[in-house]
Amino acid sequence: MTNLVVLTGAGISAESGLATFRASDGLWENHRIEDVATPEGFARNPDLVHRFYDGRRAQAATVEPNPAHQALARLETSVTAAGGRFTLITQNIDDLHERAGSYRVLHMHGELNSALCSTCGARTPWTGPLGDHPNCPVCHDPALRPDVVWFGEVPYHLDRIERVLDDCDLFVVIGTSGVVYPAAGLASLARAAGARTILLNLEEQEGWVRYDEVRLGPATEVVPQFVADVTSRPDW
Ligand code: NAD
Repeated sequence: MTNLVVLTGAGISAESGLATFRASDGLWENHRIEDVATPEGFARNPDLVHRFYDGRRAQAATVEPNPAHQALARLETSVTAAGGRFTLITQNIDDLHERAGSYRVLHMHGELNSALCSTCGARTPWTGPLGDHPNCPVCHDPALRPDVVWFGEVPYHLDRIERVLDDCDLFVVIGTSGVVYPAAGLASLARAAGARTILLNLEEQEGWVRYDEVRLGPATEVVPQFVADVTSRPDW
């Protein structure tokens, strides 16, 4: 195995204490997606959206990476030590992969710990609140918004993601419902490029994507087991 690509979603952070997106009737922490995860929602009520993400950022800082995040950090070390390539793509906006020790993480939906200036487009590392309208450190306008990709906006790193999928050998999808595009289409792209595809999730996905292998269960159990299996096989 030379090129291993992993895609994670909110399910991998669930057992750390961060709620998933759709688990509660299409709501995210009791808010409608249209209100807190769209540019229109932000234009309608910026204070609500700032309060929401300031809350998510503060909450994420109080939780810890779990054994699934840690297993993926070990997997990256093993694959790269053996001369292979490893890419971790995440839809998550928390930083639990980095805190577990993963090095190369592509946050396709942005990051809570980053602020995006609506005036000049600068992205600035940010760990405090944004609801009090601080100035952008680059252009000094009080126009910072969460650096999170909302519905209708273009995800980050798509070029790079397409390139790694082009010659991917194994594509592993973990803890994602498979309904948010384009992330949901990546397994099909990888499959079309000849990769073996595996889903590790609490339940079957709603979508139509076919996987070569499906392992159902909580991420803290199935991900460490999967990593142990992959790294113990001489042909990975
Ligand atoms: P989703 O909430 O739509 O789906 C979560 C999936 O994880 C479901 O299929 C569910 O069955 C599965 N799951 C739940 N608990 C699990 C567990 N313990 N182990 C394994 N699987 C489990 O999430 P998504 O597909 O990632 O799409 C959500 C969007 O929401 C993303 O764009 C992301 O930016 C955002 N989001 C991020 C976070 C975060 O950063 N932690 C949290 C919530 C939502």
